[in-house]
Amino acid sequence: MSSIKENYVKVIERVEKAAKRSGRDPKEIKLVAVSKTVEPARIKEAIEAGVSILGENYVQEAQRKIEEIGRSVSWHFIGHLQSNKAKYAVRLFDMIHSLDSIALAEELNRRAEREGKVMEVMIEVNLSGEASKFGAEGEKALDIARRVLDLKNLSLVGLMTMPPYFDSPEMSRPYFIQLRELKERMAAQGISLRELSMGMSNDFEIAIEEGATYVRVGTAIFGPRR
Ligand SMILES: *Cc1c(COP(=O)(O)O)cnc(C)c1O
Repeated sequence: MSSIKENYVKVIERVEKAAKRSGRDPKEIKLVAVSKTVEPARIKEAIEAGVSILGENYVQEAQRKIEEIGRSVSWHFIGHLQSNKAKYAVRLFDMIHSLDSIALAEELNRRAEREGKVMEVMIEVNLSGEASKFGAEGEKALDIARRVLDLKNLSLVGLMTMPPYFDSPEMSRPYFIQLRELKERMAAQGISLRELSMGMSNDFEIAIEEGATYVRVGTAIFGPRR
């Protein structure tokens, strides 16, 4: 068995265990294999092992890979998106996890309308208040959500977050709880969202315990990035 396949199988087992431990149906949790900097041959190994959603951070890098690998799998955009790349992002991706401003929402909507497409998006929420991080802070996320609901070619499906890096995965838990609570607050205001995209190689089990429906896992599947 290739190491990518072995890694994938282990990740799936860990997802299932974390789900069961927290009384959830493992089928509620979708695995995004994060393939930034990973070359197509190794991505194909992951697809053969069973990966069906790939996550990419850079539009141009993803474009080359999608041309080579094709669309038998879903491609999700998880990186910071600049408005001038919105057109390509709409063409290339099945979902965008990282919507972080009203201006970007409006641009994506305009581009999606031209493509005759309804683009599924999640709002990236910055819960740590770190200036170096992208994402909208709590109240702003709510403003973006309200705006997106009026945009016909965007479909708002959920919230995404990325806590600061900690050696101990337990340290991520408060951020995952906050994201779930923000989703609950939005529901109380009539904005009901289906997805929570949270948890990476280091902390995806904790994220599942706190309600993640998408986990974004790179290193634990493909090994350390070069
Ligand atoms: C790189 C990246 C991941 C995956 O990180 P790993 O620690 O390698 O699992 C997940 N989400 C985002 C937004 C990323 O940029």
